[in-house]
Amino acid sequence: MKNEVLLSIPIEKSATSKITNVDFENLTFGSIFTDHMFVCDYKDGAWQTPQIVPYGPIELEPSARVFHYGQAVFEGMKAYKDEEDQIWLFRPDENFKRINKSSKRLAIPEFPEEFFFQGMKTLLQLEKDWIKKGIGNSLYIRPFVIATQGSVLASPANEYRFMIICSPAQAYYGGEVRVKIAEHYSRAASGGVGAAKAAGNYAAQFYPTNLAKEEGYQQVIWTDADTHEYLEEAGTMNVFFRIGDTLITAPNDDKILDGVTRKSVIAVAERNGIKVEVRRIKVDEIVKAVKDGKLKEIFGSGTAAVINPILGFGYKGEKFELPKIENSYANLFKETITKIQHNEAEDPYGWRYKV
Ligand SMILES: *Cc1c(COP(=O)(O)O)cnc(C)c1O
Repeated sequence: MKNEVLLSIPIEKSATSKITNVDFENLTFGSIFTDHMFVCDYKDGAWQTPQIVPYGPIELEPSARVFHYGQAVFEGMKAYKDEEDQIWLFRPDENFKRINKSSKRLAIPEFPEEFFFQGMKTLLQLEKDWIKKGIGNSLYIRPFVIATQGSVLASPANEYRFMIICSPAQAYYGGEVRVKIAEHYSRAASGGVGAAKAAGNYAAQFYPTNLAKEEGYQQVIWTDADTHEYLEEAGTMNVFFRIGDTLITAPNDDKILDGVTRKSVIAVAERNGIKVEVRRIKVDEIVKAVKDGKLKEIFGSGTAAVINPILGFGYKGEKFELPKIENSYANLFKETITKIQHNEAEDPYGWRYKV
């Protein structure tokens, strides 16, 4: 991670700020954006000079390839403010590596490291009043890349736009989550784009998730596309199962997104002496465990909610509820990670990054 690069990014300041109109106590996730955004275009074989401009609509050709072929990837990360008004990011090098890994898979040119870090830091300094103190409060950061070249020829574009937009966020309570385990639809296939944060992965989940909602579930846990026997992940979260006192999660392969929260949970678990098994896990195994009373917890991990406990699941027409437990792993991980993010606890892992 190059901290010392002295790239200075041109800033066009917005004439007014929207901040006084924002009710920071009642934010709907991802619906309000700050005053500025980071923009960098790719053309003539190179990323051009990045800039920061007022947040607002952008103009694109209707033939821009992103609209036709979905050549688009994104990231999700957060900035936090501590009691001394210092701003922090959480493992941003992981997001940087991952957006380029996603880009590579979608034949999008990789983005330079100094542009990414310098652009984000400059933007966050400019928007620092939008980051509120207190556990749970954060500024959600959405870097993304789209193919902008106007032409419906079905091949990779030669013009792109990389942008970063920011949205203030409060503690995200996923609410009571019960999930349907996928029996027919799938999220990702072997050799496909499941491991990339590709925009189209989400579009493909909306319809089957709506069907699950009609049955009373909030989300779907996807299973392998070939047999639907193995558990993979939820739509926006990796998933952990606690059987007895052992934590189990599926390995990252080309179908499962390599979540930053997931790898942080594994590290915190290991440091706390909790046994972690990273291996394939069959649906039958958790059905048996819940029937035997050994399945103690299921939870999702992701940047938005950090940890989202799952209270029950449905599979092949049967519904299962998990027992209520004290001293949940979910609480331990959520508290440990959140405190590190907000600079309220030691960071033995070196995860915090000062802006
Ligand atoms: C972003 C994402 C996650 C969570 O990743 P984090 O880095 O922990 O936020 C998990 N699964 C999918 C499919 C995702 O897109």
